[in-house]
Amino acid sequence: MSTTLTTTLQHWINNAAYSGDDRTGKIYNPATGEVTREVALASKATTEAAIAAAHAAFPKWRDTSLARRTAIMFTFRQLLAERKGELAAIITEEHGKVLDDALGEVARGMEVVELACNAPYLLKGEYSENASTGVDVQSMRQPVGVSAIISPFNFPAMVPLWFFPVAIASGNTVVLKPSEKDPSAANWLAELFAEAGLPEGVLNVVHGDKESVDTLLNDERISTVSFVGSTPIAQYVYSTGTANGKRVQAFGGAKNHMLVLPDADLDLAADMAVNAGFGAAGERCMAISVVVALENIADELVGKIAERAKTLRVGDGTRGCDMGPLITGEHRDKVAGYIDAGIAAGATLALDGRTGAIDADGEGFFLHPTMFDNVTTDMSIYTDEIFGPVLSVVRVKTFNEGIELINSSKYGNGTAVFTNDGGAARRFENEIQVGMVGVNVPIPVPVGYHSFGGWKASLFGDQHAYGPEGFKFFTRNKVVTKRWLDPSHGGINLGFPQND
Ligand code: NAD
Repeated sequence: MSTTLTTTLQHWINNAAYSGDDRTGKIYNPATGEVTREVALASKATTEAAIAAAHAAFPKWRDTSLARRTAIMFTFRQLLAERKGELAAIITEEHGKVLDDALGEVARGMEVVELACNAPYLLKGEYSENASTGVDVQSMRQPVGVSAIISPFNFPAMVPLWFFPVAIASGNTVVLKPSEKDPSAANWLAELFAEAGLPEGVLNVVHGDKESVDTLLNDERISTVSFVGSTPIAQYVYSTGTANGKRVQAFGGAKNHMLVLPDADLDLAADMAVNAGFGAAGERCMAISVVVALENIADELVGKIAERAKTLRVGDGTRGCDMGPLITGEHRDKVAGYIDAGIAAGATLALDGRTGAIDADGEGFFLHPTMFDNVTTDMSIYTDEIFGPVLSVVRVKTFNEGIELINSSKYGNGTAVFTNDGGAARRFENEIQVGMVGVNVPIPVPVGYHSFGGWKASLFGDQHAYGPEGFKFFTRNKVVTKRWLDPSHGGINLGFPQND
């Protein structure tokens, strides 16, 4: 595909590359620190060209039969299954996560394509015959219009796939603005969808930054906005988009806690803490960043986590390593700054990730797994989303204290409890103020046919991503009340219609 051959990645509008912008951004291979290519950054005019393409394509696409839309979706799914290795390689090259993890990302994104293949079933309306004498009532879900999707760097394929298959299967057209840090996956997906038969203008990709995002938020032709990224930008996107009358779902940051109770299998819990804390170098919105340990098992658990984390091989994601680099040098330095802050605040550095062997060429953006013990809730390593391989351990005396700690967090994306006590787990499920909960599952990202979404500062808006809520977000309900007139329906009556 052309994506990997160009030196400046261009936008994708009306099923063709679209150029014309002067501003560009750099794309790095974070494992080597080298700039591999540039990406065009859209001006207002370029973003408007993408919106115009999607707007022009909408009337025809919304009236394209469900059978036809679904047939294209099935072909897209088939091509994706056949060529997922190419996409995973792009993700590893631009994001840095190891190849297996990149393949996992693609697999989780494909679940939503599979869900979207069920659109005819999921969009079925309802019908009540004889709601009143001779009156029938029908409700149906219709597409909303042009959908803007603005996505973060950490899942350059999966997060766009959370939204555009559902939007498109529902009859909307899309302008996707992926992260400018690892933008090539979005073009690859859009080109593949075109190859599957998606008509021009239905899925457009513009690359860019605030200028492009602000254009999307202010253009009256955009009907819905799906945003995923950090909490301050999510809040901004939500308030600006809704003030402009758009339907907005804005997913924000996270600080996910894993509570380990004394009866848990501590080896299993330690394995899971390492996987969920250091996978993708901690750059997952569902990563575990805080382990909450009951005092009487904390020493043993910290020992087991450290023992495992020390064995992780860090390096280039194409070389079979366990953990890759961070996204940019700037982000790596910011995360390292949190390690300094944790030490200065008095937390116990149980594992220092600032040095260690790295299996990569060049000057990649690496850190090793880091763990702090005896972390308290006033420290910045606890309060802030670090988004790196830094795990904090907070010790609590009781189960209740653990629940209260988690419920006091301003975030509410994911959490997990590790226990073999069904009653304790059930209480946790019931009382915890978090949108996605794992019981002995550390990263409880819901399957495609449920919906994904956090609470509190992790989501602004009310509809979650994909699953049944995704279809609701991308459609509007219309209710038709009808009767076919006969002479008995005549007569004057100014009262409010009543049913009989
Ligand atoms: P980010 O907020 O920096 O960027 C996200 C998107 O917003 C990008 O497309 C970017 O170009 C755009 N953007 C950045 N600054 C902007 C501005 N000032 N005005 C308008 N648009 C702007 O996030 P990121 O660093 O790419 O991603 C990491 C963040 O995403 C973390 O906080 C992580 O928790 C969060 N995230 C959340 C979820 C979730 O489901 N809740 C999922 C994945 C990532």
